[in-house]
Amino acid sequence: MGEAMKAERLVRVKKFGGTSVGSIERIEDVAKRVLESQKAGESPVLVVSAMSGETNRLVGLAETVNPGYRGVAYDMLLASGEQVSISLLAMAIERLGGKAKPFLAHQLGIYTDSMFSKAKITKIDSSRILKEVEEGVIPIVAGFQGMDSNFNVTTLGRGGSDTTAVALAAALEADACEIFTDVPAVFSADPRLVPKAREISRLSFEEMVEMASLGSKVLHIRSVEIAAKYGVKLHVRSTFEKREGTWVLMEDDMMENPVVTAVTHDASTAVIKLFPMPDGTSVLAELFEMLSKKGIVVDIITQSHKEDKQRLAFSIPNEEIRPTLSLVSEFLSEAEAEVIEDVAKISIVGVGMRNHPGVAAQFFRTLADFDIPIHLVTTSEIKVSAVIDSKHLDRAANGLHTAFGLDV
Ligand code: ADP
Ligand code: ASP
Ligand code: MG
Repeated sequence: MGEAMKAERLVRVKKFGGTSVGSIERIEDVAKRVLESQKAGESPVLVVSAMSGETNRLVGLAETVNPGYRGVAYDMLLASGEQVSISLLAMAIERLGGKAKPFLAHQLGIYTDSMFSKAKITKIDSSRILKEVEEGVIPIVAGFQGMDSNFNVTTLGRGGSDTTAVALAAALEADACEIFTDVPAVFSADPRLVPKAREISRLSFEEMVEMASLGSKVLHIRSVEIAAKYGVKLHVRSTFEKREGTWVLMEDDMMENPVVTAVTHDASTAVIKLFPMPDGTSVLAELFEMLSKKGIVVDIITQSHKEDKQRLAFSIPNEEIRPTLSLVSEFLSEAEAEVIEDVAKISIVGVGMRNHPGVAAQFFRTLADFDIPIHLVTTSEIKVSAVIDSKHLDRAANGLHTAFGLDV
């Protein structure tokens, strides 16, 4: 989009999550709010998720018919939820006198690779949307879906509508993207788990990427990575209130940078332990290469030796247990695999940690005081992360939140 056009029209990508369009009343409220923003001079481009609970319902149907199945048909099924919500929202806007059109990904040229159920967007053709915007139409784009080079429907992974929105904002050269959701801001911990969590008004991309990758599901991780790469500021805000929420931006001098910004958790983690493994590094290289080819993201890895044999433990998302085990049994037939399922990952994140020693010590001290054993642990410049038993998650999250001075 040329500068002239940008000056004329303030193109605003607005993404509405599942709860925000979870009922007919809510869809009508969104329609009203979007029309108000258009009257105020914006050119809204909407990205919408399936109505809340719908994608889970579709996952349940798939699990009943063919447990563990992944592939073309699975993505086709899961993508159908968004077709309903974009159509209803378009109808609601038209009923209020506005002009709106729903679009599926293939109609707009939202191309992805062929990694079904976790596809990555490779290209977006923004010309069709811009044409609609020029004509005063509000385009309503189905989030979470794409099309591969063989015209198959693909999906971007759970929570992927955020990524559709940010990728679209980048393609339209919009400087900001609004993420409307069921919380008024990004909090210092998931407010459902930590009642004393506080709102964060500004966050760096770097911290948000860590929070998303460590399980905070308020933003899909790819959406934050794309936003950082293309310099699209993110505004996470409430669908139900008008006030500002959290701005996710480039780290700058304005930021307060407390030592720890947030406590995050991921309840859907599993640990795989393998013993005895053949000795040597190449077996590890081959194993993790094969996992990555299947799109399985391995998180924390620890390796040790016992009686001259190699021992390996790593964490993966719960939903990857089945494909991981089938790959392991094929490739490492002599290794015994133990799966620990009732575990969760608890982490602290903050760019301020870089210049402060003693953060890891305080993290361990807090868990030790609560008598919470750790299965796996990892640290980076700006995070400390541990896998613990799920039954301790509540106490660990609230305890760490208090220990690092984050309570409201
Ligand atoms: P949407 O359907 O709008 O995409 P999601 O359910 O994907 O919404 O994300 C919003 C939810 O993320 C909130 O309801 C909240 O429970 C959860 N969440 C997890 N961590 C955080 C956090 N640090 N700040 C705010 N919300 C969080
Ligand atoms: N509907 C999809 C899901 O529930 C995508 C999204 O909501 O972002 O995961
Ligand atoms: Mg979401």
